[in-house]
This record gives sequence, C-alpha cells and structure tokens, in this order.
Amino acid sequence: MERKTFQLGDVIEMKKPHPCGTNAWKVIRMGMDIRIKCTGCGHSVMLPRSRFERRMKKVLKQAE
Ligand SMILES: [Zn+2]
Repeated sequence: MERKTFQLGDVIEMKKPHPCGTNAWKVIRMGMDIRIKCTGCGHSVMLPRSRFERRMKKVLKQAE
C-alpha cells in the first residue's frame, strides 16, 4: 500500500463523505492524532493517524 503524504493545512478527501454532503476536510492538527475539519459545516473530528490514513482518499488542495 502506498504511503499517503499530507501536511497541516491541506484539504483532503475521505473515502466516505460527511453526512452534511461535503467531502472536503482541512487538516487542522497533526500529531499522534489527526484533527480534520469539514469545510462544509465546520464540524471537526479527531482520528488516530493510522485510521485517518486508511480513511483518507486523496489530497485535494495542498497547503501553501
Ligand atoms: Zn460537514
């Protein structure tokens, strides 16, 4: 399995969209756990890095 690279501030797509219908999440915290925020409704969730990497699909927009 290829390793996914992402960094703080990236907007990423998950395998499953948020119930609000948006599938673009911003990475707002990096560490042992990753916190992402839904760009549609502002809801944020924290996931262990391993689970996040399994659920993430791709980077939509890289942070500058
Ligand atoms: Zn949402």
